[in-house]
Amino acid sequence: MKILYVSSEVVPFAKTGGLADVAGALPKALVQIGHDVRIILPRYKMVSLEKYPSKLIIEDLIIKFGTVNEKVNIYETKIPGTEVIVYLVDNDKFFGSRDQLYQVKGEDYPDNLERFVLFSKAVLVMLREINWQPHVIHCNDWQSALVCLYLKVTFGKDPFFARTASVYSIHNMAYMGIFPGDKFNLLDLPKEEFTPEKLEYWGNIALAKAGLVYADVINTVSETYAKEIQTTEFGYGLDGILRSRTKDVYGIVNGIDCDLWNPATDPIIAKHYNANTVSMKSANKLKLQADNKLPQDEKIPVLGIVSRLAKQKGFDILAQAFSQMMEMDLQFILLGDGEPQYQNFFVDAAKKYPKKLAINLGFNAALAQEIYAGSDLFLMPSHYEPCGLGQLISFRYGTIPLVRKTGGLADTVHEFDPKTGEGDGFIFERTTDPFDFLDAVKRALTAFQNKKAWESLQKKVMDYNYSWDTSAKKYVWLYKKALEKIGL
Ligand code: ADP
Repeated sequence: MKILYVSSEVVPFAKTGGLADVAGALPKALVQIGHDVRIILPRYKMVSLEKYPSKLIIEDLIIKFGTVNEKVNIYETKIPGTEVIVYLVDNDKFFGSRDQLYQVKGEDYPDNLERFVLFSKAVLVMLREINWQPHVIHCNDWQSALVCLYLKVTFGKDPFFARTASVYSIHNMAYMGIFPGDKFNLLDLPKEEFTPEKLEYWGNIALAKAGLVYADVINTVSETYAKEIQTTEFGYGLDGILRSRTKDVYGIVNGIDCDLWNPATDPIIAKHYNANTVSMKSANKLKLQADNKLPQDEKIPVLGIVSRLAKQKGFDILAQAFSQMMEMDLQFILLGDGEPQYQNFFVDAAKKYPKKLAINLGFNAALAQEIYAGSDLFLMPSHYEPCGLGQLISFRYGTIPLVRKTGGLADTVHEFDPKTGEGDGFIFERTTDPFDFLDAVKRALTAFQNKKAWESLQKKVMDYNYSWDTSAKKYVWLYKKALEKIGL
């Protein structure tokens, strides 16, 4: 099958969160099982054409939208170390000159609508130009949702696209791509597309609706989240549309790239280890403690977090319980990027607990790897979590997750029972009761004291197979469903 994978972020080129991990790994897994999968993403400033040797395959392709006429170049490169073809949409004004992907200093770029209309149109125009007709175009989140719409409404009239179906993956329902309704003319669409059944969202435009309404099939990244987004609590007002399409909505749990996330080969971490040599993990812990200026002590449990600093991730839940948690015998190391209110909270807290708390602000892929390898426990107190990759990466590094029971976390983490040895993590549920969270921390710390049982727990989770093999096959099945929907 020929598949074009459209994503606004892809590892290793550009990343803000889990979407990039998925976009860098799923296509690779699909190529390995014999499909022709190509990726397309914008060429941001950090996607250096020197670092990723690229050839210019189309120059000065004109893309029109609204009253704008922009030229884009299309470069072709590969995911390093693989044969997966990657197309880069190059336009200096909208992408190449931007330091970040979507925002700067916590503020969205004011022209994000223009940027992703340009990208979405360029995707379809360039396919015609290179004369490559994918069976399926797989779009991801609001940044590429318009491709699903254009494929049916405007470009859909072109026989070139008659045999191309679309899949829309929701990685996070809360990010809908909301823009002022008076910018609708930029989309070059008939007025009837701006109604509550289509793109309108309380007078604004919600780009995600282009995917929800027009994709042939829709999926999200865990089975639980596929059900949750069809409820008022998690649907953000779009649950009605999803319920009306419930037969087309699927859940496929994410995998992780087991080549990249591998403590036996990870080029960043201090000491390599595997399930049979998990005791060597402690060298990474000692290094992490030293790097973070915390006392080096194997016996003190280290709790790690690597996360976007956003309400979704449950930092308010953590804040309620924080002072009591910090009274316990533990160390806490955070790496996070995001909302200033959480940054301030942690910076203040770090002054209070210099021997127990280390705060690292910013996006830092290498430090993330060190935290996965060096921590004993990994915290994800999320309010909601479409899939969550942190817990899966933690498993791979023998780091035990402590999570809130929601979405993909509920699907992948099970409470550890010290009596039977069953389970693989620590779970709490209540968001407004700090003691529920604190209890889970206490259970974890007690379990950590039993060195032998802890090591068998680590070995067990390190042997889990969360590679993409199984989920990639499910995507092939999903692509076939999408093709059935267009009668193929
Ligand atoms: P989300 O996509 O909601 O941010 P996921 O758990 O699905 O959450 O994926 C997050 C991914 O981003 C993981 O690979 C995690 O290690 C990485 N990540 C998150 N924050 C940072 C950060 N500040 N620095 C480096 N990596 C980060």
